[in-house]
This record gives sequence, structure tokens and C-alpha cells, in this order.
Amino acid sequence: MQRLLITIDGPAGAGKTTVSKLLAERLSYIYVDTGALYRGIALAVKTSPVPVSIDDEKALQNLCQSVRLHFENGEKGNCLMLNGMDISDQIRTPEISMLASAVSAKTVVREYLLDLQRELGRQKGAVFEGRDMGTVVFPDADLKFFIHASLKVRAARRYEELRDKTKGISPKAVEKDMEKRDHNDSSRKIAPLRPAEDAISIDSSDLTGLQVLERMLEYFPRQYTSTSTLVF
Ligand code: C5P
Repeated sequence: MQRLLITIDGPAGAGKTTVSKLLAERLSYIYVDTGALYRGIALAVKTSPVPVSIDDEKALQNLCQSVRLHFENGEKGNCLMLNGMDISDQIRTPEISMLASAVSAKTVVREYLLDLQRELGRQKGAVFEGRDMGTVVFPDADLKFFIHASLKVRAARRYEELRDKTKGISPKAVEKDMEKRDHNDSSRKIAPLRPAEDAISIDSSDLTGLQVLERMLEYFPRQYTSTSTLVF
């Protein structure tokens, strides 16, 4: 059976990660969280021994050329490695979310990550999650989805994820950050967040991850979903 390349785009907190993982597991495909790569660059900026201004294009370019960023299958599952160190947990903070959104608007960063992402997708059999997967990185993807939900629902989901890990966090602050990030991601000049013309849009506001997955599977050719291994 031909292996597919599937893209899942959408704003923060829409539930993309949950459904992307479920779908990849269901099809025995690899799952690639491209937001983690932007977060990795943001952390590299934050921890650089030589201060890097994100408005200094040359400095950002040098940083991108000098970092080693890749995914590795470790004890805790799929880990993001920066210069040999597992940064999977460090990149999940509100500060890194905002910095990732800021660096992602820079052409040098997007160009660097474009090559890296296309290389990861070369062999197909993959689910790519991000903002511009169906529009820019893989315009010829076999199936494209755009998952969205209301700001209220997305902010509430993200607050639940962060409340035990982040000191002093409030639902209001999470919602404000998310609104700002939505605005940055949708209004930037290069690769703004928007559905590809041929993407299938799903509103996840009132759906669980499994319900979204079920909707998605309806769009697959029958041979991909009719095996006896389909377990919910
Ligand atoms: O998906 P996640 O929220 O982890 O992404 C962090 C940030 O990285 C997003 O707010 C967005 O600015 C950027 N991003 C992007 N393009 C992608 C994936 C993420 O610009 N394909």
C-alpha cells in the first residue's frame, strides 16, 4: 500500500498534537511536531553564550547554521535534541512559546527549517503537524487537515496542560498569550497560519481527540482504515 504524507495545521491548543499522534500510531507512520523545531531555535536563542537579537538577521543565520537540532527516539519516546542535549521539556514553557512565535516570523529561520522538514518527509509515511505544512512545506501532501477551535476552548485546554508545571499561571494570562500568538502567526508575511485551499477543516471545539480522529479517517481511501487492527 502506498505510504501517505499527511499534514495537520491549525492554531495553538486546537488539539493537533493529540490527533496527530493518534493518527500516526494508527497508521504506523512517523509523527513530526514541527512546532518543536521552532521552539528549539527559540531555546537556542535564549541560551546562546553570545547574545543573539532576533532582529539581527546575520546573527540568527549564524545561530541556525551552528546548531544541531534533530529528533531522537529515547527512553521517554521521541525527544528533541539540541547540540546533543534533550530539550523536550525545556521548550514547553509560556516564554518559549512566545519566543518561538517571534523567531518563526524570520525568513532565515523558516528557510533553515524548511530544508530540515522536507528531508524528514522524503520517505513519506508521515504525519506532519504545524502551521504551514499544507500551504508551504508540503503543498503536494496526500491529505491535508486544518484543525481549529474557539479561543476560549483552546485557552482552557492549554491552561489545564500548564497549570501544574508553571508557577503563577492564570487562565486569563494563557488566553491573552494565545490570542497574541494567533495574531502573530496569522498576520506574519511569510508562511502565515491559514488552511491550504485543499485542506479539510475540522472544528474540534466540542469533540474529543478520538472523535476528531474518527472524522479524519472518513477522508482516507478505504484500504487505509478497513483493516482489523482499527482499535478505538
Ligand atoms: O505548535 P507549537 O505551538 O508548538 O508552535 C510554536 C510556534 O512555532 C507557533 O506559535 C508558531 O509561531 C511556530 N510554528 C510555525 N510553523 C510551524 C510550526 C510552528 O511558525 N510549522
